[in-house]
Amino acid sequence: MTDPTALEILVIEDDLAICRLLEIALEANGYKTSFVPTAREAKITTAMRQPALVLLDLGLPDADGQDLLKALREWYIRPVIVVSARDSEAEIIKALDNGANDYLTKPFRTGELLARIRAALRQDQPEAADPVKTYGDLIIDLAARVVRKNGEMVKLTSTEYALLALFVRNEGKVLTHQFILREVWGPGYVERTEYPRVFVGQLRKKIETDPNYPKLISTESGVGYRFEAE
Ligand code: CA
Repeated sequence: MTDPTALEILVIEDDLAICRLLEIALEANGYKTSFVPTAREAKITTAMRQPALVLLDLGLPDADGQDLLKALREWYIRPVIVVSARDSEAEIIKALDNGANDYLTKPFRTGELLARIRAALRQDQPEAADPVKTYGDLIIDLAARVVRKNGEMVKLTSTEYALLALFVRNEGKVLTHQFILREVWGPGYVERTEYPRVFVGQLRKKIETDPNYPKLISTESGVGYRFEAE
């Protein structure tokens, strides 16, 4: 018997072998699961069941998963993780810009998928009112705009601070270069793709224990960055 309070994950996937694999892994980890193989059924089932999270394949028999994602995002606000064989940067960026919380390419490791699901569900928790975020020896006070590392005040420029605050507000989520440029520098700067790299580098020097092996801001190659505390 599944726990009636278990969170439900809707899997939109037309490959039965993958569905079976996901069913075993998800149910063993205490999630309730449901499956639909087409975009048409996905829209109906998402609306009816209001799942806590959606896993979305992009190659569906009756529609492109990217279009389905855009349609779902008009009203479905819970996490969507794309799980797809499409591994091009362009496809990943498109999915993130269409509103996916995360993206995993097939073949995937089950442990990694479960970790991404936990992270997405954590992010989805209504934000605690506490403006003070603690990540090990790094403390960020979003109300006072003060950052401390090992008790020492970290001096950040206003752009570095804006970038860090954006990361903290989107903890666990992959932020594309375009998104970062738009949010921190403004819509006129989306072509300045060197800015995030330069400023993330500066930020890492100030907040990471070892900037050469960053633990807080990880690079999602060709796509963007993810801020995540262990
Ligand atoms: Ca497919």
